[in-house]
Amino acid sequence: MLTAVDLSGEIINLLEVDNIKYIKEREFFCPGCKGKIVLKNGSIKARHFAHKSLKNCEFYSENESQEHLQLKMDLYKWLNYDTYAQVEYYLPEIMQIADIMVESNIALEVQCSSLSLKYLSERTLSYKKIGCSVLWLLGENLHLGEKMNRLNMNFLYFSMNCGFYYWELHNKQKCIVLKYLIHEDLKGNLIYKEKIFPFFKGNLLDILRFPYRKQKSEVIEGKKISDMELYISQNLRRKNGKWMELAGLYYQKGLSLRDIKNYPVQYFPLGFNYYKWLINGSDHSSFLQINRDLSPYYENFIKYYKLRDKTSRQLMYPPAFYGKM
Ligand SMILES: [Zn+2]
Repeated sequence: MLTAVDLSGEIINLLEVDNIKYIKEREFFCPGCKGKIVLKNGSIKARHFAHKSLKNCEFYSENESQEHLQLKMDLYKWLNYDTYAQVEYYLPEIMQIADIMVESNIALEVQCSSLSLKYLSERTLSYKKIGCSVLWLLGENLHLGEKMNRLNMNFLYFSMNCGFYYWELHNKQKCIVLKYLIHEDLKGNLIYKEKIFPFFKGNLLDILRFPYRKQKSEVIEGKKISDMELYISQNLRRKNGKWMELAGLYYQKGLSLRDIKNYPVQYFPLGFNYYKWLINGSDHSSFLQINRDLSPYYENFIKYYKLRDKTSRQLMYPPAFYGKM
């Protein structure tokens, strides 16, 4: 952690201290739990505060990694070129500490380690409760892989100009990466576009607002998949949970997944399950960070491709392209 309070209640931010000697002899306490903390001048980790004992602290649940510490320091420094930001901002109403608070109502959470969905949901909802928006910026362990997992899903945001998007922080490369127009193919593999913004270049708040700006004709291309029948058989043989469940649903309707021969649409917006849609009408997931009703987007999307010819590739556009929501 980078901030502490002293006996008089004054907040000390290590990133703003010019003369470290001046604070070395003082006693420090956690801004949240008020437990005793000490200054660490490590050779591996950057200078930071640490609890003497973490046992009773509800604000800091673990020892902070160098990645988390460094990213927080970089983003804070970057923001403070031209924006008012505070690091480790204590919010007594919800008993939480925001990694970085910008303009008093935008919380930036630098998330580097895995966390439970329950905890993520609690944190997200309490920010909402006090009228604060929260942007989750994800460290290496939570970067997008080939497929979307449950945790990834709940860090997704959505805009009409960028579709589903996801923010990644790259500590070694010193950049923030926007993955956007994220789609999923029939096998669940992800495709997306990405934009790389190097740290300290331009205004970070402007960059974070990028998904809401109108983009020039963005498009992403999905290659034709021709081995779906084989893929499904293999997954059923391996008793893959997701495919077994789908096969079960089809069976109950007297149908079989193997009977689907043509796939006019092969790439989908996230959260839309094509196989369930074929037999049930509509069925889609919800996302923790997205409040908007996405069903008009899903409907317009499907309608658009059903009317197309089966060409060798599928071109996908930002949601705004498919019609008003
Ligand atoms: Zn504490």
